[in-house]
Amino acid sequence: MSINPFATVQEKVEKSPKVSDEVKYTTCYMCACRCGIKVHLKNGEIRYIEGNRNHPVNKGVLCAKGSAGIMQHYSPARLTKPLKRIGERGSGEFKEIEWDEALQLATSWLSNIRETDPKKLAFFTGRDQSQGLTGFWASQFGTPNHAAHGGFCSVNMAAAGLYTIGGSFWEFGEPDWEHTKYFIMFGVAEDHDSNPIKMGLGKLKTRGAKFVSVNPIKTGYSAIADQWIGIRPGTDGLLVLSVIHELLKSNQIDLGYLVRYTNAPWLVIQDEGAPDHGLFARDDEGSPLSWNKANDTIAPALATDITPAIVGSYELPDGRNAVPAFQLLAERYMADEYKPENVAPKCGLKADIIKNLAQEIAHVAFQEELKLDVEWTDWAGRKHKSMIGRPVSMHAMRGISAHSNGFHTCRALHILQILLGSIDAPGGFRYKPPFPKPAPPPLKPAGKVDQINPNSPMPGPPLGFPMGPEDLLVDENGDPTRIDKAFSWEAPISAHGVMHMVLNNAWKGDPYEVDTIFMYMANMSWNSSMNIPDTLRMLTDKNNETGEYQIPRIIYSDAFYSEMIPYCDLVLPDTTYLERWDCISLLDRPICDADGVADSIRQPILKPDRDVRPFQDVLIELGSRLKLPAFTNEDGNAKYPGGYPDYIVNHERAPGIGPLAGFRGEDGNSEGKGSPNPRQLAQYVENQCFWRHEFEPTEKYFKHSNKAYLDKAVKLGLIGAPNQIILQLYLEPLQKFRLAAEGHGSIQPPDQHRERIKKYFDPLPIYYTPFEEAAIDAKEFPMHALTQRPMAMYHSWGSQNAWLRQIHGFNKLYMSRIKAEKLNIENGDWVFVKSSEGRLKAQIQLMEGVNEDTVWTWNAIGKRRGAWNLSDNAPEGTKGFLLNHIISQLLPEKPNGYRYANADPITGQAAWFDLRVSIEKAEPEQAGVVSEPQFDTIKPMSTVKRGNNVLRYGEKVKTKDD
Ligand code: SF4
Repeated sequence: MSINPFATVQEKVEKSPKVSDEVKYTTCYMCACRCGIKVHLKNGEIRYIEGNRNHPVNKGVLCAKGSAGIMQHYSPARLTKPLKRIGERGSGEFKEIEWDEALQLATSWLSNIRETDPKKLAFFTGRDQSQGLTGFWASQFGTPNHAAHGGFCSVNMAAAGLYTIGGSFWEFGEPDWEHTKYFIMFGVAEDHDSNPIKMGLGKLKTRGAKFVSVNPIKTGYSAIADQWIGIRPGTDGLLVLSVIHELLKSNQIDLGYLVRYTNAPWLVIQDEGAPDHGLFARDDEGSPLSWNKANDTIAPALATDITPAIVGSYELPDGRNAVPAFQLLAERYMADEYKPENVAPKCGLKADIIKNLAQEIAHVAFQEELKLDVEWTDWAGRKHKSMIGRPVSMHAMRGISAHSNGFHTCRALHILQILLGSIDAPGGFRYKPPFPKPAPPPLKPAGKVDQINPNSPMPGPPLGFPMGPEDLLVDENGDPTRIDKAFSWEAPISAHGVMHMVLNNAWKGDPYEVDTIFMYMANMSWNSSMNIPDTLRMLTDKNNETGEYQIPRIIYSDAFYSEMIPYCDLVLPDTTYLERWDCISLLDRPICDADGVADSIRQPILKPDRDVRPFQDVLIELGSRLKLPAFTNEDGNAKYPGGYPDYIVNHERAPGIGPLAGFRGEDGNSEGKGSPNPRQLAQYVENQCFWRHEFEPTEKYFKHSNKAYLDKAVKLGLIGAPNQIILQLYLEPLQKFRLAAEGHGSIQPPDQHRERIKKYFDPLPIYYTPFEEAAIDAKEFPMHALTQRPMAMYHSWGSQNAWLRQIHGFNKLYMSRIKAEKLNIENGDWVFVKSSEGRLKAQIQLMEGVNEDTVWTWNAIGKRRGAWNLSDNAPEGTKGFLLNHIISQLLPEKPNGYRYANADPITGQAAWFDLRVSIEKAEPEQAGVVSEPQFDTIKPMSTVKRGNNVLRYGEKVKTKDD
């Protein structure tokens, strides 16, 4: 039969080819969002990664980082075997050793410390997702010197939220994406809550809700905002307080909400000079008092049958005066100082912008009130026919946190939400369980002098929430007991520790010398430290008398050959996140959403092909070798011989409460609490590696006061008692610190700290000029310099990833086109960026959407040449740069010679967004093509194979079937 040339040829196209022969579920670790993923494998190799549509965090959404997890797993920078340093620190000369030798060495170093003085161990972790374990291990070891990276991340936001509303943004709460009509995002925030915010913004855009971005830089999420307010860095607090001024002046606040849910009506003693001035008036049982307008008498503030006054001045039974907390708040913020006309120039804005913002917020909150027809009962048994919402919501993270005035700014933001009545109301901010917790959570940091003893665990966790001077970790002279000086008079409420000061203090021996620094996933010799040249000096400096390193020993665990590795004495190589068991625990930082409680696991997708071990397994093994009580049976044997998976299933922090809340009880049918279930991990795997409990509609809002929710939270083990959680407009613990500084009480700050505590420990938010700005000559350093994280990268792991490097190969310094014209700078020019600390050279990229007085760059892309097993001429090393080089760790000297950390005075949060610089065009002969400063190239490791110059990943997994 002849071929018909006119016949339509039907090409056979396989629309859905089989790309994998196996699919496994697990949890992404390419950033901190912890999305659910499906990993497709073919012939035992990872073929591709897909979002899990059923997962509560991402519902199938996957970002660039998540899909590039393959390249993280197959990174040429992966460590392959335990290493012992044989050359000088920094030389990169190591000897490969066996695990047994590595563990013996670590055990011998650590046991000696534990037997003598456990605080000589400083154990700090970076962006680790097993803080439920690491903190517990430190406490069992007996050292107070433990924290993760929160001190240089966003502790101001977390602490301000936890002390004010018993929750905060991101892991602690989220906007009501379904109902909000007006959403304001402050500052750099996209690096936390990546996919969930993208999905939320998508919902807002679909519904036509307004999105306002208050940010010096219009990139990332701000690029799709309906309105961009290009504020001057470090002045957000002033803007928020001015909005509050406008709302108070126009009487557009939710008074009913304030009376029901906050300490607005609690009476504050007014007796200047007295030891209880500024504290709440309380009855003999310690319960706060209010003025009952119904019968003009003093009454218990928590009574439900009173009509409390929130303004005025009243006589206490002892004859002294007291005023409701709200009276103090209103007096302060109604003052002219906060008028938009007075505030606007400092914020670099027009007064009308602030006025309009306040009007729009008030209009949506009160004229577009939202009503959900859901009956609910409050903590006192009062029934409500519906849920009334104020559909204004907000989000902020590091942008407003990383300033030396960040704590008060973050608190101001929460107070604005409270005044609107939008905290956990429909359309507003919503708590994610296990939050709300009492504000602050009733957990005190352990580490007082008498709590640190040889061979003994501490009686509690190293991190917590001080309520007054009595909870500080200081000795009888007021000196810190922690190496990072957290919870001391320098940073009393440093709820996440002060990791960025550890190397500096350990090097100086201030407040004491440590023996060993043990770190995990913390690139402290590069992008996790400020002032890198000094940091490298501290790591390599030797004691003139002994010839030993000033910081005697450094043990480090990481999966990759980062800039930190050459400075370590013992390296314990970790696996990638696709090679181990993990749990995303409610005891740590969970993945819940406002509608339900959830946690998840990681399962090994592949077996390691190198001699590496999961750090969590190693920590548990060290725990049993060191005979830490919680990791050792009575007969002296290991309590968790099966390592981390064994611990995840069988460890109980309290009876019935373990690392995972799902599938508990012997039969796996209990939620929240229940005895260990031997099949728990298998059941998580069967359930796509997560567990979630959806709340009933009646439990979903007003969680701080909702009886059904509070009862449920107790049942699930999220909180201890079903008591109302009272929102703290007026923060009494701060006043307690201030009273101590004024000379009251038995625990007072050393004289050198008194003025600082008096000034900054104000129980109502204040604004002050960031410390660096106040200290420098604004003419000499006229510009602000910021960093932010690109959407496609996260920390320094991302910028070594073969796929993600193709998106951001190196970073430039972004600058306003208008400003550049004034400085005669053109696109692509090289410039010198000078701060009071040092100078760097970078290449300019001009743009429109940036505050004229601000320059910025992407964070953590610049790398030290030779690190991460990148080639010596990789652009990250030759052209990339870090602003860290020119950020000071310390503030200028005080008249008494003392230098405080460059940090928030309340929480110790690193103030790296306070940086002020000058920009100077490099002359043609200086310009070149390489950024500065450059450091010696890190020696490539002989044991780690160099990466290929040409990457054809598809070829690697192609088979003859493809
Ligand atoms: S946002 Fe992206 S990188 Fe982060 S966990 Fe989700 S998929 Fe992974």
